[in-house]
Amino acid sequence: MKYNLTEIFDNPGKTANEELEIELDAILIMGEEYELKDSSPIVMEATGIEQGKARVTCKYSCKVILNCDRCLKPVEHSIDVNADIVVFSPDYTGEEEEACEFMDGYKLDMDEFILSEMLLDWPSKILCREDCKGICTVCGKDLNNGECGCDRFVPNAAFAGLSELFKFDN
Ligand SMILES: [Zn+2]
Ligand SMILES: [Zn+2]
Repeated sequence: MKYNLTEIFDNPGKTANEELEIELDAILIMGEEYELKDSSPIVMEATGIEQGKARVTCKYSCKVILNCDRCLKPVEHSIDVNADIVVFSPDYTGEEEEACEFMDGYKLDMDEFILSEMLLDWPSKILCREDCKGICTVCGKDLNNGECGCDRFVPNAAFAGLSELFKFDN
């Protein structure tokens, strides 16, 4: 949703506290869609700093189900957004104005703001447990449940090159 900051921009020192509902119900990352579960309200505080300039802080949390990088088991991951931003009205006349991609006129697009914070903080690695053993590349067995006995030895590229060289000796 878009929150109208006109009142705050026009009244330096004024603070507004709101609980807003997020409109996003899923997040799309690299073509994968992740449902946002147990979404909290967006707890927002906006304070006028000077005419046309305001500071907005937001708290939000939810959970997403990601797959373990090694064994692909679903893992519940908690997301906690704790963000703040300084925004300017379109008629701000001061010097430090910066373009803000989340502003639409006098309104701050809360969903876009929260979404960008979630993307910044998206985990690069997900493991169901620190020592997850993954799955067997031969038979697909979950190695956390025990060894399968497959031969998973794969000669590395350098070693394979070396064995090519030795063929000339034959
Ligand atoms: Zn795992
Ligand atoms: Zn196996």
